[in-house]
Parts: sequence; structure tokens; C-alpha cells
Amino acid sequence: MYDAIVVGAGPTGSHVAGELANQGHRVVVLEQHDKIGKKGCCTGIVGRECVERFPVARLAVAREAMGARFFSPSSASFTLQKDSAQAYILDRQAFDEAMAANAQKLGAEYLLSTKAKGVTVDGGKARVEAESEGQPFVLDGKVVVMASGFASGLPDSLGLGKFGDFVMGAQAEVETKMEEVEVYLGSRFSPGFFAWLVPTRQGQALAGLLARRDTKAYIEAFLRYLKYQGKIASPQAPLRFGGVPLKPLRHTSGNRVIVIGDAAGQVKPTTGGGIYYGLLSADIAVDVLDQAITGNDCSARALSEYERRWEKLLARELRIGRWARRAFERLSDRRMERLFRMVQDSPTTDSLLNAPDFSFDWHSRLILRALWRFGPRVVVSLVWPG
Ligand SMILES: Cc1cc2nc3c(=O)[nH]c(=O)nc-3n(C[C@H](O)[C@H](O)[C@H](O)COP(=O)(O)OP(=O)(O)OC[C@H]3O[C@@H](n4cnc5c(N)ncnc54)[C@H](O)[C@@H]3O)c2cc1C
Repeated sequence: MYDAIVVGAGPTGSHVAGELANQGHRVVVLEQHDKIGKKGCCTGIVGRECVERFPVARLAVAREAMGARFFSPSSASFTLQKDSAQAYILDRQAFDEAMAANAQKLGAEYLLSTKAKGVTVDGGKARVEAESEGQPFVLDGKVVVMASGFASGLPDSLGLGKFGDFVMGAQAEVETKMEEVEVYLGSRFSPGFFAWLVPTRQGQALAGLLARRDTKAYIEAFLRYLKYQGKIASPQAPLRFGGVPLKPLRHTSGNRVIVIGDAAGQVKPTTGGGIYYGLLSADIAVDVLDQAITGNDCSARALSEYERRWEKLLARELRIGRWARRAFERLSDRRMERLFRMVQDSPTTDSLLNAPDFSFDWHSRLILRALWRFGPRVVVSLVWPG
């Protein structure tokens, strides 16, 4: 019997697997694809804090970003930039591969082309029904870690809940000469969300967006727009789609089960970035699981400590981020344009950006401070649609 069966070899699954194996536990990771990082849909932007705390990420850095150029609905633009790297653009496949290689080096076992089809828990063990190349088999473990991303449906099958809110993302790899990260606002690109062009390796970029509906039509229109602007070589590129949870599951732990990363909904509601929050929660999961496995108590009560601790860490960020997201989604192009001009022309923007505690990863302080500094004009714009 395994100590832990991890479903999913994304960054969070591999992180938990490696750290538990490093503490002497017997761990296996099941990955449905035949290759790590295959078919992912992610831009791979993480903040400096993430790369410093999880140094394996350094192995996959494709580019550093010191800032970004923002475009308003009417195509006015300004650049927010600092004099050092604020974010890193990871090659997502290379990142997932590096995380998995590290976990294997630490002793975790990997089963590729292996899909978890169901999880059941009885008193003494957790059982995963799996399938590899058409052959069904079962694995028993003391605990199952669901790190299966947005779409697996496994947590719901155990009664842990569904996502109360989510959005679809689409992305394409394109050829470009652009060197700057660009963010596009406005309903023609992505109503209520945003679109992006993010240079990766030399001559390549990821063009993508988040949208609540018609994601395919919006990404195709965005690619045509970028081509028309002379920013990309061709609007024809294979499209990838992926879901982004905007609200965590109701329960992220249960009897012999823990859910982490996108599967749990540990994602910034402002940007949809989930790598860092997922990894931070994975660290908490490792701590709680190590104690539970060692003390031979993997009950719902023992594992609920995981939920309590990650919520303590992220709850405020998620709550304020969700509020800001809802307010942003209610903005008309006209109000967004007005806010954009206000932010663009104000010295306050520079002082917010250059505040010593400005962070790419923790947005609640920035949101509250911006509301305070820009004053009632912002509140009026945000609260009343128009
Ligand atoms: C368009 C888009 C852009 C994004 N850009 C960013 C960004 O710039 N920065 C950022 O921080 N985040 C970004 N994200 C979010 C980011 O991709 C996720 O937060 C991150 O991948 C979550 O990692 P994870 O390990 O939880 O899950 P995943 O990376 O989704 O990994 C889950 C793994 O589980 C496997 N799996 C699923 N079901 C099963 C099963 N039943 N059996 C076996 N294996 C299974 C999958 O194949 C996959 O390998 C973006 C998302 C989208 C859609």
C-alpha cells in the first residue's frame, strides 16, 4: 500500500509528491497523459516571490518581465514598469517536467498514461480505480491527493463540491517581434476580463484571453486584431483551451483525501493565476499529510487542518480579489476608459507601483490602497454600472 497516491503531475501534484517522498513516504503519481506537461494551457507568468520560494522554477524561466503595456478599450496605452524583474515567464512544459524530475529524484514513483477513473474511501484505506492503455487496475493508499486541475470532476464525485464560479481561457502560440508584455482591456477583446500578448522565447509569444462565453470566437478575433496591428505573423495558430476556477471548492479535504491547486480552486480571482497559490497550498498539504501519515490518522478531522491553514493564508486575498473582479466585470467600456485615463495620468499610480510592499502575487493590499488613494471617483465608477 502506498502512503500517498497523487492524481495529476502538474506543478502542485509533483511538489507534494516530491516533498512527501523526501520525508520517507511511499508516493505514486498518476498522470493521464503520456508526457508530463502535455496539452497544458497556461501562460506561465509567476512573480519573483514564487521563483525565490520554489527554486525549481528557475530551470524553466523563458523570460523576465519588468512591466507591461496596458491598452484601454479605445487603444490608449501606457506602460507600468519597474527597474527590476517583477515577474518571470515560465516555459510551462519545461516547468512541469522539472518539477516531476525533481520529485522522481526525491523518490516519487510516476505512472504516465494512467488515468484515475474513481476514488473510494473505506475505513482503512483510499482506493483509486485507474486505467492504463485500456487496462483497469486499482491502487490502495493511506491518502489520496487530488491535484488533477480544473476539469477532472474527481472532487465532486467524493461530495467535495463543484466550482461556484469559473471562466474559460484560450491561448495560441504565435510568431512575433514584440518584446513587451501587453494587456488589452475592453469588451471587444474580452468582456469583463482581459486579453494578453506575452513574449516567451525569441520570436515567440503566447496570445490569449479569458472569457465567460464565446471563448473561441473572441480568441480568433483577437488573433486577427494582432495580425492587423502587425504584432504577430499570422492569425492561424492551434488554439488551446482551459478552465480557470474563480472560487474554491466548498470542501478541500475529507476522510483520507486532500484537494490542491486548480482542483481546489486556489487561484487569484483577479488574474486567474494559480501556480503560486497552488504551490503555497501544496506546501501546507505536505506538512499536514506528513503528520497524518506518520501518526496513522488520515481522518477527515486530522486533514481538515490543511483546509484551515490554506484558507487562513489565502482567504483575504480571494475575498477581496473576487470583489474587485465582480466590480471590474460590471464596468462598461466607457467607465473603464475613464478609469484608465485616471490611472494613466496620476502620480499616485507610480507611488502605488513603487511602494516597498508592492507585490505581483498579493493584490488585496494594492486594491484597497488604490481605492483609498484614488478616492471616491473610483468607488463611483466601480459601484455604478454605466
Ligand atoms: C489560458 C490560461 C492561462 C493561464 N496563465 C497563468 C499564468 O500566467 N500564471 C499562473 O500562475 N497561472 C496561469 N494559469 C493557471 C494555471 O495554469 C493553473 O493554476 C496551474 O496549472 C494549476 O496547477 P495544478 O498542478 O493544480 O493543475 P494542472 O497544471 O492543471 O495539472 C493537473 C494534471 O492532472 C492531470 N489529470 C487530470 N485528471 C487526471 C486523472 N483523472 N488522472 C490522471 N491525471 C489527471 C492533468 O493531465 C494534468 O497534468 C492559466 C490558466 C489558463 C487556462
